[in-house]
Amino acid sequence: MPIYSIKCTECDEHDTFVSKIAERDTTPACHHCNHPTVRTLDAPMVTAMGLSDHAAIKSSIDGSMLYGRSDYYKHLQKHDVLPESEMKGEAAHQKKQIAKKDKEQRKKTISDTIAKLGA
Ligand SMILES: [Zn+2]
Repeated sequence: MPIYSIKCTECDEHDTFVSKIAERDTTPACHHCNHPTVRTLDAPMVTAMGLSDHAAIKSSIDGSMLYGRSDYYKHLQKHDVLPESEMKGEAAHQKKQIAKKDKEQRKKTISDTIAKLGA
């Protein structure tokens, strides 16, 4: 199933969710503040599997031209979008990377808050 990007209407928190195409307009509540979310950028419906390093594809996110697999992944990363149907290992790896990034961001927020409070 495709992955969709959503944005909270209250706190602007970005997130993704997996849904059937038919149900993609039913977005989950914000995991942060529980307010309604809206769908932002659609994850590309194409998979990079089988995409050669020299093939050019048009991004379904912003219409820009991407040249090869690494460009494609960089583009997805830039837009916080996960490839739709990835190889299991790769998807798990990306999930881990995102979780790691998330954790680092949270740690940073905490230390920033502590610094701000002068503790
Ligand atoms: Zn929110």
